[in-house]
Amino acid sequence: MLKKLLKKIIIMIVGKQAEELVDLLNSKKHVNEFIIAKKLDITINQTRNILYKISDYGLVSFIRKKDKKKGWYTYFWKIEILKSLEFLRGILIKRIDQINHQVKSRETKRFYICEKCNIEFNEENALLHNFTCNECGNIFTVKDNAKVLKELNKNLDKLKRELEFVDEEIKKEKERIEKIKLKELKKEEKIAEKKKLEKKLMRKSSKKKEKISKKLTKKKLVKKPIKKIKSKKSKIPKKKKIKLKKKTKKR
Ligand SMILES: [Zn+2]
Repeated sequence: MLKKLLKKIIIMIVGKQAEELVDLLNSKKHVNEFIIAKKLDITINQTRNILYKISDYGLVSFIRKKDKKKGWYTYFWKIEILKSLEFLRGILIKRIDQINHQVKSRETKRFYICEKCNIEFNEENALLHNFTCNECGNIFTVKDNAKVLKELNKNLDKLKRELEFVDEEIKKEKERIEKIKLKELKKEEKIAEKKKLEKKLMRKSSKKKEKISKKLTKKKLVKKPIKKIKSKKSKIPKKKKIKLKKKTKKR
């Protein structure tokens, strides 16, 4: 049903030629415009013109990516389902209003017709024409509103049914969007939790490291003097020995 409705919308805006576009654009990810052009068997400029037209109504969205080698942008497109359905809903409501208005007028007013030319007049205009046709001179007859009303009501029922379908799909789409949002929120929460945990662990481990390094430096502090003392112990006697030797040589 959704696809049927989306097709109706696209045909309304850009005509029957772009009907297939719905199959291509009704995807989770944005679709490369060159792929769209190839699949529709039209040029890239024709493709863009069609997409821009739909985009004027806000019913498609795009992202663009720069080709690093060639330096130009490629556009990727996707149909905006909720916006499209709401667009169709607006049109249906408008039409239903119009037909309701017509029904009311057919129920309360008299209409006249020239049966030969099949031209209709409301009572005011018929009176102005003196109930005589300008074109053929025929005298008007009263229009049978019952027939017109039957047709109008048939149309009205059809439109109302369609509106119900659209409302149903809008509800479904909103639920789908809500689900995605919830999923993303949960994902974000999980990531935030993970980061928190990582920070905690980092703090813990850095504290441990601090402790260890403190211990190490303590040990080093203890060890270093020993080394120095050792070296002093070993050096002093050597120098003294040399000095002593030199002294003895001089003497
Ligand atoms: Zn006539």
